Amino acid sequence: MTTSSLSAPTVLCIGAGASASLLAHHLHREGFTGRIVLVDREAGLGPAYAGCDLRHVLNVPAGNMGAARDDPAGFLLWLNALGIDPPVAAGDFVPRQLYGRYLEAVLEPLRGSGEVIRVRSAASALWREGACWRVELERGGTLLADAVVLAIGNLPPRALPGSAGIDERLIVNDPWRCRLDELAPPRAQVLFIGTGLTMVDGVLSLAPAASEGAHLTALSRHGRLPLAWGTQASTPFAASDAARSARALMRQVRAQAKAGAAWQQTMNGLRMQARTLWLQLPPAEQARLLRHGRALWSIHRHRIPDPSHARLQALQESGRLAILAGRLEGLRQVGNRVQARWRRRGRSAVEEAAFDLVVNATGPESRYDRSRDPLLRQLFAAGHVRPHPLGLGLDATAAGELRAADGSLAPHLYSLGAPMQGVLFECTAIPDIRDAAQDLAALLCRRLQAVPASVPQLTPGATADRE
Ligand SMILES: Cc1cc2nc3c(=O)[nH]c(=O)nc-3n(C[C@H](O)[C@H](O)[C@H](O)COP(=O)(O)OP(=O)(O)OC[C@H]3O[C@@H](n4cnc5c(N)ncnc54)[C@H](O)[C@@H]3O)c2cc1C
Repeated sequence: MTTSSLSAPTVLCIGAGASASLLAHHLHREGFTGRIVLVDREAGLGPAYAGCDLRHVLNVPAGNMGAARDDPAGFLLWLNALGIDPPVAAGDFVPRQLYGRYLEAVLEPLRGSGEVIRVRSAASALWREGACWRVELERGGTLLADAVVLAIGNLPPRALPGSAGIDERLIVNDPWRCRLDELAPPRAQVLFIGTGLTMVDGVLSLAPAASEGAHLTALSRHGRLPLAWGTQASTPFAASDAARSARALMRQVRAQAKAGAAWQQTMNGLRMQARTLWLQLPPAEQARLLRHGRALWSIHRHRIPDPSHARLQALQESGRLAILAGRLEGLRQVGNRVQARWRRRGRSAVEEAAFDLVVNATGPESRYDRSRDPLLRQLFAAGHVRPHPLGLGLDATAAGELRAADGSLAPHLYSLGAPMQGVLFECTAIPDIRDAAQDLAALLCRRLQAVPASVPQLTPGATADRE
């Protein structure tokens, strides 16, 4: 890929999922006059919304999934303009696939006008060149940008102990990128490691198979399932100044949840302030809160639609789904099956059983410095980024400016979405991403429009790599 000289600034996003799409949308709304290049190794909009199972529904009500914080109902309006009958209500949970279509529709005019260009390739390295970043593409060639945004999403889960060497048809290590209902043999015995949202998706995919004789088991340390959404109303959470310690904060949450009409209302209110409260805590208290409150926060905060919850309960009651609290001790392949060993919580005896399929539903790896992804390895090796001190994603300012290895701000290198999990705590659901995207777009416009651009424009030759 070659380049030639022109004057408009270029923002290049690595990743073209929901985060990058929302950033492009907000750059446009802010009046950004430069080029926006989205580089992604995959087609589509990331694993959450690209071509997924129709049984997988959003876990945020349709009325709050709009692309802008001043237009939270934008998705709902778009849906109802499709003529869906009966019309979708603000509190409904619709298939995630529809959200992918909405994001495509938001981006479509910008792609049509050439304001946004999508390039299909992995980015494999970044280095500074004068006042620009040069981005190396795995497919060959490089691109120059005035600013680079890492919108690379979640990492795949960490491999399960003992999984190395097991036939890959028997173990699913990246469940967001496959269809379990197509992988599991009829009447299969399936073991999920993890009992969170990924397990819920998997169980919903396999529910028809379960009614025809498949048996599902899910194992996690505490054996806790995400709770049901219940009410969508919220009570504003009133944090006192004392909420500067993990213990005081948890005490206040419990007290307000007990005093309120429904604990879900307190959680909904707390959720809106989670980022502010997190940023107020000193690092040692953030670490304490994670140690003592993270598992509980997950099931209360990341709730599932009531019908999905009811489906899980029905499967448990009919004996098709068993939830176990315990620790996986190991896995090994025996013939065409996987023998799993685990120890139940509070017991010393090791139990074991054979399964036709094991699904790693432990959730995304949060240590970006442990990733084998060539880009991340190069970014750490070159000192352009450093891990967040809590081991959650990358270190950055709350605005998304990434910190280099020495703690200084890497020039015009930003992040959005999951890599920001340690800094912001809540940054992966759409309402959080759209706020961060809106703020980052405003920041980029202020910074880039104020100075002459350093980056040459893509030449027509570059279009060969466009999607
Ligand atoms: C299964 C699932 C369900 C979810 N459901 C909901 C929901 O219902 N509601 C909600 O609000 N949120 C949900 N989320 C949260 C979700 O993370 C966000 O809503 C959103 O999809 C994140 O978008 P993203 O662009 O940050 O990441 P992603 O969608 O993961 O996109 C990142 C992109 O970066 C690309 N990439 C990574 N590295 C490179 C590289 N080196 N070079 C080129 N490309 C690269 C990847 O190919 C990917 O396409 C869900 C997440 C998952 C995984």
